[in-house]
Amino acid sequence: MQIKTHFSLKSFNTFGIDVYAKEFSVIQSHQDLLDLIAQRDLTKEKFLMLGGGSNILFTKDFVGLLLKNEISGIEVINEDAQQVWIKVGAGVVWHEFVMHCIERGWGGLENLSLIPGTVGASPIQNIGAYGVEVKDLIVEVEGVDLVQKNTRTINSQECEFAYRSSVFKTSLKNTFLITAVVFRLDKQPKLHVEYGAIKDQLSKMKIDHPTIKDVSNAVISIRQSKLPDPNSIGNAGSFFKNPVVPAKKLNELKAIFPGIVSFPFENDFKLAAGWLIEQAGWKGHREGNVGCHEKQALVLVNHGNASGAEVLQLAQKIQQSVFTKFGVRLEMEVNVV
Ligand SMILES: Cc1cc2nc3c(=O)[nH]c(=O)nc-3n(C[C@H](O)[C@H](O)[C@H](O)COP(=O)(O)OP(=O)(O)OC[C@H]3O[C@@H](n4cnc5c(N)ncnc54)[C@H](O)[C@@H]3O)c2cc1C
Repeated sequence: MQIKTHFSLKSFNTFGIDVYAKEFSVIQSHQDLLDLIAQRDLTKEKFLMLGGGSNILFTKDFVGLLLKNEISGIEVINEDAQQVWIKVGAGVVWHEFVMHCIERGWGGLENLSLIPGTVGASPIQNIGAYGVEVKDLIVEVEGVDLVQKNTRTINSQECEFAYRSSVFKTSLKNTFLITAVVFRLDKQPKLHVEYGAIKDQLSKMKIDHPTIKDVSNAVISIRQSKLPDPNSIGNAGSFFKNPVVPAKKLNELKAIFPGIVSFPFENDFKLAAGWLIEQAGWKGHREGNVGCHEKQALVLVNHGNASGAEVLQLAQKIQQSVFTKFGVRLEMEVNVV
């Protein structure tokens, strides 16, 4: 394994923040990681595993070892008449995996088309879009336990999946590195078209009896029309999570702001963070090199040469102003480093 020093991360994070890692190395296999931990005790070092860098904000140089996950491989490990079990390397690009499955008629992932990043990061925040969360398709997660210094498999129940969260963001943060994920997909897929604008998009496309490929195409069109492309303008998608409040709080808010956008969520309600930010006057706002996207208030953008600290400062101002107006705390979805 080659270790490079003073390595620029500008093209390794979708915000396009120009920071340097003290050390940088590419992990190409599970064995690479086992070899690395035989030589260095990562529990005593500052390190970070990076996938596509699409859910991260670097606020300063990374004074430690940055490991870029490039573990490849998509393998069918089991199948029956109804379902297929697929083991996928953590470094595989998420959308390429989704397309691989759609081409073979394996359903389940189509609503998650075009989400940036890697397969290995997908369980970490339990990626979700258009009414589907990856937790429902994951069987188990394989990786290296840095404390026990061995290979470990974590089944989906042990993953403690929740809304944009999992055990990998909580108790296993910094001690478990994901090298592969096993998914179970359907050969006779059930479509989820009720959410958002999917149905409208399908009817615009004049499709009455959609396939998983049609649903994927509809999701791709909607995403391309709504979300800024990180290749054109630096961003990490939704910067904040949708806050979850009890019914009592929602009713208090409704009395003052009748237009508030909310969705039932478990025993509580999710508020649309984008709506709160827009109402607090931030949509399209620009402050030097950073701003709040003009079409999608939840997305903070790098207008060019922004520092991570500038993005963070804007995020904190937005949090403060939403709290002052609505008494609701916005939690960051992006990992701030
Ligand atoms: C335009 C845009 C749209 C987006 N839309 C969505 C969306 O609809 N839904 C959604 O859920 N997310 C969305 N995201 C967020 C992002 O794409 C996902 O969170 C994605 O899973 C991040 O993958 P990544 O490989 O880029 O992770 P990174 O940003 O590289 O890493 C994210 C975190 O995971 C850790 N990590 C990464 N890989 C590993 C590993 N193998 N083992 C251990 N830790 C690891 C990192 O240390 C970091 O803390 C969007 C982002 C963008 C830029």
